[in-house]
Amino acid sequence: MCDNLHSACSDLLAEEFRHAPSRRTRHGRIDLMGAVPKHKVSKRRQGFRAAHQYIDVPPLTTCRTCGQKHRTHYVCPHCGHYRGRLVLDMEKKKRQRRPEA
Ligand SMILES: [Zn+2]
Repeated sequence: MCDNLHSACSDLLAEEFRHAPSRRTRHGRIDLMGAVPKHKVSKRRQGFRAAHQYIDVPPLTTCRTCGQKHRTHYVCPHCGHYRGRLVLDMEKKKRQRRPEA
């Protein structure tokens, strides 16, 4: 095998690097390089992409029974009330979580 990457030599190379990521160029040679970006990503473009990378904070409201903060349209995890009505027995929940206590 020579270093000039002839089509035949490149086939030998392909056999040798069977498991490496490779592709055949339009000249029939084996390219062992992976995907390479064609252009530099400018600071401005990085900023455009980064504009969507943030953590969503769920909307919070104050429980009208216990006054603690909880998610809107969710049962209050502190007292088990929803819109002032008891829907969850929190004492029972606590007992279920720790049966030995
Ligand atoms: Zn509450």
